Amino acid sequence: MDCPDFIHSQVCLKSYNTWKVGGQADYLVEPSSLEQLQKALAWAQKQNLPLCILGDGSNVLLSDKGVEGLVVVLKKLASVESYMQNGHLKVEAMAGASKAEALKLFLKHKLSPALFLTGLPGNIAGGVVMNAGVGESRVPREFCEIVEWVDVLRLDSLKVERVLSENIDWSYRSSLGWQPGVIVKVGMSWPLSPEHPDIMLEIKKATRQRILKQPINQPSCGSVFRNPKPQSSGALIEGCGLKGFSIGRAQVSTKHANFIVTSEGALATDVDQLVQHVQKTVKSHHGINLHPEFVYLGRW
Ligand SMILES: Cc1cc2nc3c(=O)[nH]c(=O)nc-3n(C[C@H](O)[C@H](O)[C@H](O)COP(=O)(O)OP(=O)(O)OC[C@H]3O[C@@H](n4cnc5c(N)ncnc54)[C@H](O)[C@@H]3O)c2cc1C
Repeated sequence: MDCPDFIHSQVCLKSYNTWKVGGQADYLVEPSSLEQLQKALAWAQKQNLPLCILGDGSNVLLSDKGVEGLVVVLKKLASVESYMQNGHLKVEAMAGASKAEALKLFLKHKLSPALFLTGLPGNIAGGVVMNAGVGESRVPREFCEIVEWVDVLRLDSLKVERVLSENIDWSYRSSLGWQPGVIVKVGMSWPLSPEHPDIMLEIKKATRQRILKQPINQPSCGSVFRNPKPQSSGALIEGCGLKGFSIGRAQVSTKHANFIVTSEGALATDVDQLVQHVQKTVKSHHGINLHPEFVYLGRW
């Protein structure tokens, strides 16, 4: 099948996700402009290909059998800008901008979103889709608190439509109501006062805590399971003696039991089998069902 030269075929996906696993994308595009994204989507539609969107791949498990159709990676659409309006700092970020870039703009004004964004991997659109957030009781602690609107490229019209945050159904690690489409830009807003004078110290403290408690130097997708409140998944898994347990090249982290880490050569099926083993063991020990926080993508 002929495709435009900016679309590539049979692309290995291991470097496109933080677990470093998965097969090939049938086709992959990393658009460097909105126009290029529109052209790629129009081409995929003409060929009747399904679409799979990837941010930084820090919350997905990509199948070893690969991903059907066109994979769209938005990392190159990454500009961020800010301005002040009506006593608020407004931050507008293209979908592929990293959370760290947005953090810097809030930090310049010593505003508390900088603290919540500390240590959150992935890009801005991925943060919106997953309503990413932190466990600590901070304000803000989830994306839904800072997002004002999202610009969505509609698949039917290939036009951009703005969806206001109030029309999005936000819940724990999920956002609904903006679909179907590709999030291309996100508008965030936070009051310019009060400032947070000690924010740099708090950011350093939060970073130290993450380094201490999480295996951030090993490939992972962060927390694997949602916490079945009031219980914590990590404590339940650790209680079953599963810390360090491995299948193939996937292991329940020895540092934090709710993280699964992989080593060189790991397969997505190693991760998937370990996920299922942990679920079965926790169910038989504690009678509790654990539900994954990450998203399965590709041919499962
Ligand atoms: C070490 C580590 C620590 C982590 N800590 C946390 C944490 O504290 N809190 C937390 O909430 N998460 C955490 N995570 C998980 C993850 O980083 C977040 O969920 C993040 O927001 C996902 O962003 P991403 O760009 O990687 O999205 P991806 O993983 O690439 O995608 C996630 C989902 O969004 C969809 N998607 C992505 N971009 C778009 C778009 N532009 N339009 C439409 N759909 C799109 C994808 O199809 C997929 O379904 C952690 C991960 C790691 C590896």
